Amino acid sequence: MSPVDGASATLTIDLGALAANYRLLRARLGPGCQCAAVVKADAYGLGLGPVARRLAREGCGHFFVATLDEAAALRDALDQGGDEGEAAGAIYVLLGAEPDTAAGLAELGVIPVLNSREHIELWRKEAARRGGPLPAIVQVDTGMNRLGLEARDLDWIAQEPDALAGIEVRFVMSHLACADEPGHPLNQRQLDAFIGARATFPAASASLSNSGGILLGQAYHFDLVRPGIALYGGNPLAQGPNSFSEVVQLQTRIVQVREIDSPQAVGYGATHRVAGPCRIATVPVGYADGYLRSLGNRGTAFVAGVRAPLVGRVSMDLITLDVTAAPPEQTRPGAIVTLIGGGGAGLDDIAREAGTISYEILTRLGPRLKRAYVN
Ligand SMILES: *Cc1c(COP(=O)(O)O)cnc(C)c1O
Repeated sequence: MSPVDGASATLTIDLGALAANYRLLRARLGPGCQCAAVVKADAYGLGLGPVARRLAREGCGHFFVATLDEAAALRDALDQGGDEGEAAGAIYVLLGAEPDTAAGLAELGVIPVLNSREHIELWRKEAARRGGPLPAIVQVDTGMNRLGLEARDLDWIAQEPDALAGIEVRFVMSHLACADEPGHPLNQRQLDAFIGARATFPAASASLSNSGGILLGQAYHFDLVRPGIALYGGNPLAQGPNSFSEVVQLQTRIVQVREIDSPQAVGYGATHRVAGPCRIATVPVGYADGYLRSLGNRGTAFVAGVRAPLVGRVSMDLITLDVTAAPPEQTRPGAIVTLIGGGGAGLDDIAREAGTISYEILTRLGPRLKRAYVN
């Protein structure tokens, strides 16, 4: 790790590990299936530009974002990587076409995921206005009850010959609700419903699986898969070992050490009481950095390879660690503290301690952390 210089902490992002995870996913795919990358929310907090350009270099030609603004940022980021000689890649916008975004999506040449009859009608009008066909993905709801066409919308398309006039449906798509639980019966039910829904779009390719869905096997792959969390090193499965490489490490330095030898309390609210002699190290990362407040009295850090439990509450800019178990000469101000990864508490461990999932830990990592890209 490089010195923190000016920032409170360094988030190291291993682009080589990201690329390795992409290759590992691709190696699992059925014949003819392509591997997209989901880079919404600033590539899950890791930085849209570096992540997307690295994946493009690996041959990724399909990118999913949530919004038109993210699509515009991604287009700029990919254009900057043009010297690699890669095709720019297709950009899909998960939130679809709204009255205030349809013209912008078409202008930018990005592809909305149409989630409703309203989206379809809007995109059809946009195509007519521009005098030529426009590409789209059509999403169908197969059991998650969140986004996508319902059965009655599919009936409308089947009965109305001009429902999709001017819309070139590249993919029919759906999203799995329980892909992180391979044994959940909803997986098979959604697969069956998806196969049924495809009949309404005979010419379109198909896309169903996120990271967890890819691990369900090739029956779930179709023509395009859409991994996110596995690329970034999170475990796509709710339980069991993680086969993906660690991409993120969070490190900082001790700013102050307090030797306590009488019963006292630590931090806001005096929630942690020390009984005997101990050493408490104060570290400059807090909930403003995305180190969640729910980690108070629960989190784990590592100093000099030794486990240092987080004691007391998480402050906005600071946490306090019990470093009594580590050698004093290695826990002075300036000593490196590892908060995520690096052989200490992994991303999924921290998420569990915080009562959340790796996705939330990653997407909350704040702008104050200095991002350092390696490999
Ligand atoms: C976010 C998202 C994904 C990626 O999911 P992971 O679980 O991170 O792999 C795929 N598809 C859709 C529709 C999404 O919203």
